Amino acid sequence: MKRIAILGFSLESNRFAPPCSRADFEERGYYRGDEISREARAEHPAIYAGVTGFYSGMDAELGRSGWEPVPVVHASSQPAGPVEEDFFNELLAEFEAGLTAAGPLDGVYIAEHGGACATHTHDPDGEVFALVRRLVGPDVPVIATLDLHANVSDAMMQATDIMVGYRENPHTDIRERGAEAAALMVELMAGTKATSYRVRLPLVAPSVTQLTAPGHPYGDLIRLGQTKIDDKVMNVTILSGFAFCDTPKNGMTVIVTTRNDPDHAKTLAIDLAKAGWADKDRYVPRMTSLADSVATAKRLGEDPNLPSLLFADPADNPGGGGRGNTTYILKALLEAGVHGCIFGVFFDPALVAQAQTAGEHQEFRARLNTGETAPFSEPLDWDARVVRLHDGEFIGHHGMVAGKSVSLGATAVVAMGGVTLVAISKRQQCLSSDFFEALGIDVVGARSVVVKSRGHFRAGFNHLFPPERIVEVDVPGLTSPNLANFDWRYLPRPVFPLDKEATWSPPAG
Ligand SMILES: [Zn+2]
Repeated sequence: MKRIAILGFSLESNRFAPPCSRADFEERGYYRGDEISREARAEHPAIYAGVTGFYSGMDAELGRSGWEPVPVVHASSQPAGPVEEDFFNELLAEFEAGLTAAGPLDGVYIAEHGGACATHTHDPDGEVFALVRRLVGPDVPVIATLDLHANVSDAMMQATDIMVGYRENPHTDIRERGAEAAALMVELMAGTKATSYRVRLPLVAPSVTQLTAPGHPYGDLIRLGQTKIDDKVMNVTILSGFAFCDTPKNGMTVIVTTRNDPDHAKTLAIDLAKAGWADKDRYVPRMTSLADSVATAKRLGEDPNLPSLLFADPADNPGGGGRGNTTYILKALLEAGVHGCIFGVFFDPALVAQAQTAGEHQEFRARLNTGETAPFSEPLDWDARVVRLHDGEFIGHHGMVAGKSVSLGATAVVAMGGVTLVAISKRQQCLSSDFFEALGIDVVGARSVVVKSRGHFRAGFNHLFPPERIVEVDVPGLTSPNLANFDWRYLPRPVFPLDKEATWSPPAG
């Protein structure tokens, strides 16, 4: 019977967003002990899908009687700011207590995001991994899964046997990567020695250039890496990283893990890094101005023969630490008198409360962002009508929420001029058409759809909006793909495409 500990800390930190604390993790997902196993095996799990995938992978590899999960703690937050020091240290203490009480272990699976920073350190993920290694010793396999937006440190490399990164953006393969980690775990427990090599490039790709669909440079590089998997190469992970974390460890990272063939790991990692660097000029965003976007939306509302379009606000992406409530696009749509537009999801618990006070079908003066202090989250007042009040609970059908339980918190559908706005109480990005349809909103009939999301929405709207009917709008925000908009403090410089003169030469060997 193989005993495997399961734990993780999952946060993508935007250095420019307000710090996050225990409450952010309790809201999104804080599972302790057996809650992890129960949730991982639930019909519609709410827990991070890597955990679900790891359980199903282990069950498939060894059978339920062949391994014993030793679940410790899994804490995940919506992407937010740096994690607060006190809470983070409490979490480390929980990990330590759980692993110490666990008794002898045959392996540890860490379901981590990898893109966090803290108010007191650039590398909280490295601290988690180092703690695990210190407690279990050098011989117990430790495998982590990472979001492809992870920024990898030396400490993370040293403490783990294998790091498995996602290969899909939008992240539709989280569960598969958890299952892959299980298969690799079984191989390591059988005696295979994993050796890895890592190369980091001075390339910090703007968020909207990190798509993995055909025709995108990052996807091309990942697919090239996968052609190298063979009996020597266990895993090729290529992480585009998360710019807004703003740490010295930022930069696209290639990790090759071999079956104890360090020379091959190094040669292959360098070859893949060379291919990535040769393609660097394709990592430059091309967005549409707000004025052009609104003019287009106006035309769509007036001419039913034009195909509808989806407008994305990548600069206010809650999936990158944005607050999900900036009003640049909304205000411009309202002032232009755009019709047939649906807009969501907009994080504003105070607005939801105003709608609840008014009641369904009642008119009221909507006052947006009265409870918000973050930069860019400007107030906006507009006459409105409550279309519907809802508890915000549903099961998703599309994209990254397919089959998953989703909770928006108390929700209000509010009509403001020709715009139907979905206001929510739990901050998150709009991941699929479910976020409208579950509230009774007709997405197919809408002339324009605006989403607060950088790119994960693509997986949940691709049955309605192919890539050529998606417009990325260039507005200010905490997650603007215009990297020149930010006051960077810790990024390694020069770095491409921020610094066009950035150079890189392969390490010797
Ligand atoms: Zn990600």
